[in-house]
Amino acid sequence: MNMHDLVRRLYPLCRSITGDGLRETLRIIGEHIPLEITEVPTGTEVLDWTIPREWNIRDAHIKGVVDFKDSNLHVVGYSVPVNATMTLEELRPHLHTLPDQPDLIPYRTSYYAETWGFCMSQNTLDAMGPGPYEVMIDSTLADGHLTYGEHVVRGRSSEEVLISCHVCHPSLANDNLAGVAVAVALAQRLKDPWYTYRFIFAPGTIGAITWLARNRARTDRIKHGLTLACAGDPGPVTYKRSRHGDAEIDQVFAYLLDRPLLDFSPYGYDERQYGSPGFNLPVGSLTRTPYGSYPEYHTSGDNPDFVRPEAMEDTLETLWSAVRILEGNRTYQNLSPYGEPQLGRRGLYGSLGGRSDTKQAQMAMLWVLNQSDGTNSLLDIAERSSLPFEALAEAAQALQEAGLVKEWVG
Ligand code: ZN
Repeated sequence: MNMHDLVRRLYPLCRSITGDGLRETLRIIGEHIPLEITEVPTGTEVLDWTIPREWNIRDAHIKGVVDFKDSNLHVVGYSVPVNATMTLEELRPHLHTLPDQPDLIPYRTSYYAETWGFCMSQNTLDAMGPGPYEVMIDSTLADGHLTYGEHVVRGRSSEEVLISCHVCHPSLANDNLAGVAVAVALAQRLKDPWYTYRFIFAPGTIGAITWLARNRARTDRIKHGLTLACAGDPGPVTYKRSRHGDAEIDQVFAYLLDRPLLDFSPYGYDERQYGSPGFNLPVGSLTRTPYGSYPEYHTSGDNPDFVRPEAMEDTLETLWSAVRILEGNRTYQNLSPYGEPQLGRRGLYGSLGGRSDTKQAQMAMLWVLNQSDGTNSLLDIAERSSLPFEALAEAAQALQEAGLVKEWVG
């Protein structure tokens, strides 16, 4: 699976928080990784919310000005149908532009207030005469369903790592599709993991709330999680801490990234639903440039050309490094804690002195032995020793095989 090809393929679909564009998106994701699809009927109560009516759109235009077929961003999401002839003056309250970015079309929605509207570039608006104009939106807002998809990679443990992507944005590439593509690539790469990995592809806010409402009794299985979005812009990888602030997933990214982490805030993506106080799940947020912080955000400038294949690769590799640390992070107990055990007698001291990698392996063993009193994980030891996590994990493995440490069990 080529991540950028998937972004390009999904880009033209008119996604929303419900409807056939969302379903088609999940169907295409399902060509790459098996998805379990859940359809929740309109009117279902989910936590403090209610599943809205389902929105579908076939066509729309302001004749001679903008056409839905050119870009689905031209129509305000959840617009009710309209068929009218209107002057520019009458039409004007329904038109949305970005005066400071006159070439770009904004992305607007109105999920919970019944209205309609068109989005266009400021340049297009400036070129409009007084009219009248034929205005048409062929949409339906009717009882139906909210749809979400899940992919689970079973691990040896029933404890879960949650990866959550929103799939409700129409033709926006970085904010939405790049995260989806990286999640699909990660899911394909996971083979026989320790943890069980649950990927959720759901509309933002209402989709995460719906999933939480339906899985309330089993959320305690989620030990680590993140929302994944804005995964392909040219900016550097950014991690926003979970509500806990110091969860293991937060510690992993603090260790991996050479730039400061963002502190938790109850905004952004669905980390604020997973991290609402009743659930309080350790779910951070992985992006490149965070939501709202790049000029193309929520505009027609966020197109597949804005998303760089090498940036998505970099996000994937960073995420993969995090997964490897989560998978390997264990806490050990030194079984010979009185004085240093004699490593040479057990063949654990390298026979060739002086080689730097041998030195590192020896230092890793000494650090693991010294710190393994049941309170320090390998990641704690990596932070304290400045040794690479992998070297410590290998040392712990060798020490365990020699009977000098065992995994700490509470
Ligand atoms: Zn967004």
